[in-house]
Amino acid sequence: MNEDAFDIVVVGGGHAGCEAALAAARLVGSSTRLGARVALVTIRADTIAQMSCNPAIGGLAKGQMVREIDALGGQMARTTDATALQYRLLNRSKGPAVRSPRAQCDRHAYARAMQETLRGQTGLEIIEDVACDIETAGDRVAAVRCESGRRLATRAAIVTTGTFLRGVLHVGTKMWPGGRIGEPAAENLSAGLARLGLVLGRLKTGTPPRVDGRTLDYAHMQEQPPDPDPVRFSFGWPDGPFPNVSCWITETTPEVHELIRANLDRAPLYTGQIRSTGPRYCPSLETKIVRFADRRRHQVFLEPEGRDTPVVYCNGLSTSLPEDVQDRVVHGIPGMERAAILRYGYAIEYDFVPPTQIQPTLETKAVRGLYLAGQINGTSGYEEAAGQGLLAGINAARALQGRPPIVLGRDQAYLGVLVDDLVTKGTEEPYRMFTSLAEYRLVLRHDNADRRLTPVGREVGLVADEAWRRLEAKEREIAETRALLRRVRVEGRTLEDLLRRPDVTWESLAADVPDLAALVISPEAREQVVIEAKYAGYLVRQSAQIERARKMEDRLIPPELDYAAVTHLRTEAREKLARVRPRSMGQAARIAGIGPSDLAVLMIHLKR
Ligand SMILES: Cc1cc2nc3c(=O)[nH]c(=O)nc-3n(C[C@H](O)[C@H](O)[C@H](O)COP(=O)(O)OP(=O)(O)OC[C@H]3O[C@@H](n4cnc5c(N)ncnc54)[C@H](O)[C@@H]3O)c2cc1C
Repeated sequence: MNEDAFDIVVVGGGHAGCEAALAAARLVGSSTRLGARVALVTIRADTIAQMSCNPAIGGLAKGQMVREIDALGGQMARTTDATALQYRLLNRSKGPAVRSPRAQCDRHAYARAMQETLRGQTGLEIIEDVACDIETAGDRVAAVRCESGRRLATRAAIVTTGTFLRGVLHVGTKMWPGGRIGEPAAENLSAGLARLGLVLGRLKTGTPPRVDGRTLDYAHMQEQPPDPDPVRFSFGWPDGPFPNVSCWITETTPEVHELIRANLDRAPLYTGQIRSTGPRYCPSLETKIVRFADRRRHQVFLEPEGRDTPVVYCNGLSTSLPEDVQDRVVHGIPGMERAAILRYGYAIEYDFVPPTQIQPTLETKAVRGLYLAGQINGTSGYEEAAGQGLLAGINAARALQGRPPIVLGRDQAYLGVLVDDLVTKGTEEPYRMFTSLAEYRLVLRHDNADRRLTPVGREVGLVADEAWRRLEAKEREIAETRALLRRVRVEGRTLEDLLRRPDVTWESLAADVPDLAALVISPEAREQVVIEAKYAGYLVRQSAQIERARKMEDRLIPPELDYAAVTHLRTEAREKLARVRPRSMGQAARIAGIGPSDLAVLMIHLKR
């Protein structure tokens, strides 16, 4: 075999690229590394899997996605568990639908562990180079061209370039090209993508300064201890010790706010120097001060970046103010008066591909075999990127094997909601996942991600026997326990009925019922039984909604449908439907601006 010929070439070794490359190699890679059929081409091998911003994985809705990645057979959860410094289950006191695990990681250990996994993956070759063009033959991908002159012939390409496409960094009035601090931008690939007919847009994001933890005065801060009983991300991860470090909380002051207001004429976000839209839910400090002018304080979370480093990440202080202003802002915050700044905050603008140009498989509509995943699709966040990378890797491999693609439903996974939102609605600002974006969040819990998705991962071929056996055993335990709860009665009521009462817990019931006390059951299976008993009414209602919605999802629209030939369709509806090309009536109904009468017209046309 020609050494530069591959089945799948992944461009970019960020969080999307790592998952894509691993999934692709596990599914189509050969049994040796020498005969690799998958290549990962990335600018620098030593920054593969680098966390560009905060050293944490998970959080609201993101934690659910990481567990979904694990259930499908992806990597992110395992690498997180291997390198976590502390865990917290967010929303612990609220209902199970919105509880989300989050882990603070050792930044360097995480990247190193992921790099080792990639290096150990048979069928995968890592190439240090800059992709500058995608070559096609007819309407198909034929090769990825690199700046070194190397040509990687391939049957599919997955582009996961993150914030690097024509990236420009900003600190105060200074601006310079770069993909992230200390790394070059990818200057030429955008033109290559545009030549293929893809329209590009521009977005912005930013990051806070890092300080030396040895120069902080923790006596003036509030400690944020980790959870004593952590929820691990990976379903099979063994319990065991890990560092369990604390984070610290402090606050900005009215004086700091005043200082920022006085320097807005040097803030690139307010001088017109930065013109692209940034993440709404992760605003810079200067944006918070302008937007919430009456707030006198904003919280700052000080998060250690690792075990063997004094670097501390200042969560909440994202900024691109000039360095002298950043100095004064940091030193004006209680406990940070003598903080040594190790790196200043900065903002970055980069090219993205508005995602209505891709299909729910993440393949572009313009070029067969060309997939896009991660920040290039307008998302923000490691977890959103990793989830897309995994799905793109799976679908690129399946397409080569002639197998049908995996498209997850909105009732099946947050990853399904993510992809559906992107391809149906597009995005004009960095998109991040929230529980409020999912209509079936009681079903899409972090605790049942294995039950929802491990069967999918098994069918795909990414779930090993051990994980599969674990799920089977858990399902058996759940079924047997549920049967017991329905069989045993106390004063005429089944144990299941009793467990539904808000004041009854498993423990209080077991204290009165010897059959239950004698039951040997894993905490994970018991949790499922309890949640499903407590929320049975809501779950039944949600299932009925899902059933109704599924009827619309099952009404498929032929991909080649000529919308111009659909008589009586409004011009606006015709344009929007032709642009998105929905797979189903369900997806068509979610396109902004498509109303019930448009759907009725379309349905009549399809019936004919
Ligand atoms: C300054 C900054 C601040 C951020 N702030 C936040 C935040 O507040 N909240 C949040 O959720 N997310 C934030 N992020 C975003 C987060 O880092 C990304 O969402 C996530 O890393 C995206 O993953 P990715 O795999 O798509 O891309 P990245 O992690 O950016 O990885 C891209 C990879 O592609 C490689 N690459 C790029 N172009 C080429 C090419 N042409 N050829 C070869 N290799 C190439 C790069 O070397 C890199 O390895 C921030 C990112 C930056 C840079």
